[in-house]
Amino acid sequence: MLRLTEVKLPLDHTPEALRAAVLARLGLPGEELLDIHVFRRGYDARKRNAIQLIYTLDVTLRDEAATLRRFPQDQHVNRTPDMAYRFVARAPEGFANRPVVIGVGPCGLMAALVLAQMGLRPIILERGKAVRERTKDTWGLWRRSELNPESNVQFGEGGAGTFSDGKLYSQIKDPQHHSRKLLEEFVKAGAPEEILYLSKPHIGTFRLVTMVESMRRTIEELGGEYRFNTKVVDLDIQATADGGRQIRGVMLEDGGYLAADHVVLAVGHSARDTFAMLLERGVFMEAKPFSVGFRIEHPQGMIDRCRFGEAAGNPLLGAADYKLAHHCKGKGLEGRTVYSFCMCPGGTVVAATSEPGRVVTNGMSQYSRAERNANAAIVVSVTPADYPDGVLAGLGFQRELEERAYQAGGGAYFAPAQTVGDFLANRPSTTLGEVVPSYKPGVTPTDLAPTLPDYAIAAIREALPAFERQVRGYARPDAVMTGVETRTSSPLRIRRGESGHSVNTRGLFPAGEGAGYAGGILSAGVDGIKTAEAVALSLLGDIAQA
Ligand code: FAD
Repeated sequence: MLRLTEVKLPLDHTPEALRAAVLARLGLPGEELLDIHVFRRGYDARKRNAIQLIYTLDVTLRDEAATLRRFPQDQHVNRTPDMAYRFVARAPEGFANRPVVIGVGPCGLMAALVLAQMGLRPIILERGKAVRERTKDTWGLWRRSELNPESNVQFGEGGAGTFSDGKLYSQIKDPQHHSRKLLEEFVKAGAPEEILYLSKPHIGTFRLVTMVESMRRTIEELGGEYRFNTKVVDLDIQATADGGRQIRGVMLEDGGYLAADHVVLAVGHSARDTFAMLLERGVFMEAKPFSVGFRIEHPQGMIDRCRFGEAAGNPLLGAADYKLAHHCKGKGLEGRTVYSFCMCPGGTVVAATSEPGRVVTNGMSQYSRAERNANAAIVVSVTPADYPDGVLAGLGFQRELEERAYQAGGGAYFAPAQTVGDFLANRPSTTLGEVVPSYKPGVTPTDLAPTLPDYAIAAIREALPAFERQVRGYARPDAVMTGVETRTSSPLRIRRGESGHSVNTRGLFPAGEGAGYAGGILSAGVDGIKTAEAVALSLLGDIAQA
């Protein structure tokens, strides 16, 4: 097969036009083209009135070698790469040394699946509940202001991405096509087939719940074992003869102990108690940058019209998204960037705290993306210079802002909200306009300025008019912002070496978003696959090479 990239056709092209475009592109008569498979479909909407679909196609030809010879320098005509996933090792029958996976978000889930597929029968420890029970607790916060600190949007089977838009794209480099492996596993577990070819696929929250359950069944059938309501509270790390450190087991909250010398640590960015424990145990970590800000909501129809013009509503385009960035120029703001993050078309803003007395916002959507409002985080970059007091200072910084938001919201997990008009005019909101905020349990119109540091407020005030120039209506006076968005990525990195082990603790494999190696469902899952490979090579390296 040959792969053709950048094949462009108008949005309303006929099915036959695809075949005609391939023949024209390759200069071939019809009988030479045996088959066309769409590998990827995206769109270019930079010209609203001439939106184009952009295809990557795998074509089967009668004589592929001859065609390739005619396009020697053409980077858009190549052999289709081999993207098949190959396991790095396989455990022999009865192999007794079972790895432990802590946390079953996208990273732990993919790590556990691949370990199970290699015959390593992982034991999965998850502090939260199985996904159905967890869903009830999550709704408890949204409907009744009742937070369960161990079972919520952040904690429980499926991890932080379960109640989300389920966007499955990322800008990670992926030379070994690990993301293909993830997407294929997701489809086997019930995700729509289109995630394999859309350039910006999403699943929506309902489907994620059933997929996570289906993947659990697969892992269990392969000999893996899940333990829910099982928080790891300590690590058994022992000195080695060469002066190093080796993990020997994990301590559980219920007093239990589990021996293990290969432990995947995939705890996500909200496991603040676990980070404190790791610091106490001397596991090497360092503070890293992240971002803080608000969620902003606009009518989805406005975003659709602005991005797609007359083509708004076309089912091939779906609900429009956007991606914005502004490099600040104001005095004292040099080096700060304000950007949109985790945009959820046709979705809702959700309460995403895992700790009592704190308010955190995030966003989610259903597969249909049919809700009235578009929402996205508008966040400002912050660095350890903004929270200089040690490795855990970023957590303290997040907590303080989340507490300020709780106070400003008036309690009961209401979020503080302000219209863009009032925010830019530096006056508190007392009422809201046409854009009705979707955050549950509810919002309190107020002044958002006290919830973030002054520089962050100044940066967002500078950015909103710049965003208005890119998306007309973005700074409309009745667009609503709710606060605060603090859990954008991990405020620290648990450093690992080339072979995946922690740099100072052998057998501990920090992975995923919490360890600072991923940001989003896809990249966390890919990191899980890579980590499973590192664990298998460490456990079975000699066998794999034999
Ligand atoms: P997590 O998903 O955070 O999983 C960590 C798991 O570890 C949790 O289940 C937790 O309970 C468990 N755990 C923690 N500590 C312990 C312990 N001590 N013992 C046992 N278990 C423990 N990303 C996207 O790409 N697309 C989106 O559309 C998207 N939307 C989002 C919407 C929301 C509301 C949220 C909160 C996040 C969203 N994200 C999205 C981000 C995405 O969810 C995360 O990047 C991803 O889940 C990180 O995966 P992870 O496996 O590294 O960590």
